[in-house]
Amino acid sequence: MKRDKSSSNHLFTPYSPDYSLREKLQRTATILHASAFAVTRLLQNKKIQFAASVEITDRCNAGCHYCYVYPQEWDQRQRLQGYLQLSKAEHSEKERQVFQTLDQLKQAGIIHVTLVGGEPALAPHIIQYAANLFPIIWVVTNGAARLPLLPRSVSAFVSLDGPPDHHNQSRDPMGFFANHHYEGNTGMAAAIARNINQSERGAFVHLTLTRPAVERFPEAVSWVVRTVTKLRGIIVSGTTAKTKDDPAAFTLEDRQRLKQLIEAAAQTYGWSLFPFNQPKANEFLFNAEHIIDTPSNCLVSQLTKTVDFDGRAVGKCVLRDEMDCQTCLCNMTALTQAIAQFDVKTIRGVSRANFG
Ligand code: SF4
Ligand code: SF4
Repeated sequence: MKRDKSSSNHLFTPYSPDYSLREKLQRTATILHASAFAVTRLLQNKKIQFAASVEITDRCNAGCHYCYVYPQEWDQRQRLQGYLQLSKAEHSEKERQVFQTLDQLKQAGIIHVTLVGGEPALAPHIIQYAANLFPIIWVVTNGAARLPLLPRSVSAFVSLDGPPDHHNQSRDPMGFFANHHYEGNTGMAAAIARNINQSERGAFVHLTLTRPAVERFPEAVSWVVRTVTKLRGIIVSGTTAKTKDDPAAFTLEDRQRLKQLIEAAAQTYGWSLFPFNQPKANEFLFNAEHIIDTPSNCLVSQLTKTVDFDGRAVGKCVLRDEMDCQTCLCNMTALTQAIAQFDVKTIRGVSRANFG
């Protein structure tokens, strides 16, 4: 990653995986073909699904307290140990189900899959299997395990909750990663930075902020830019709450504040740092007039099939039915709307993510 040190600001140049001319042409053709297919489906019927989010494993090496994969009453130790204690035969049966789900999605005409978990990096053979079926794959990972060698169709998105101390407290309250050290950092945040930097093709960082963490956005961005040398860009979301009255729900002022902070960071580092938070996408994400009231008005919910590792639909979207759409600050909702309006800057940002 190159940083412009001669100017007063620190313009960011995204890390870009190496491509030969031939590979680039092949990948471009694949992406154009997939995009044309998606646009045709959209024009035919806005409700035909062409994207999917799939839980590919029940295993995880973290144990975040807010995780919806595990029972709410489990503490971090139980979350870490829980499903890992399934027998080998039970895991194999679950994997068989995941392969079958991926096959069915392929037959249903899905072209873009987001692989989630559990922790997908613990199931690299399933990522490989998916890569043989779908042209565009995004893997959402906690980054605490080494990122596997990924095919060209796959890009990695590593989740971060804020600056390192905040992330470690939020994701690893019992300190299971306390013995990880990297470049002056400790804990899970250190593991994340090391694993991205040592990966073959780098990763995007998905920064999802709670209300109290909003003011720490500049600090989080500065840390990521300084520490993650194979950084492909930062995606910004806010957390979603169960009701509008929940103290965790962003107010309109919070939304505008986060939008301002992104704009200020873009002044310093350049907009290429935020490929999915270009100005048009941020309007959809943060402005009051674009708040989504029901799943029937959410393109993500309408166009994406969301299934768990048993092949069952998990609800209206990956956030589950209990989350209130009116509090939603999921970047994907804004991204989809900006693309549907053919916002060139957003399309350019997403295209970058499709070159794995
Ligand atoms: S890393 Fe993801 S799957 Fe694992 S416990 Fe945390 S939120 Fe859940
Ligand atoms: S919670 Fe967000 S992503 Fe899910 S259906 Fe509602 S608006 Fe869409």
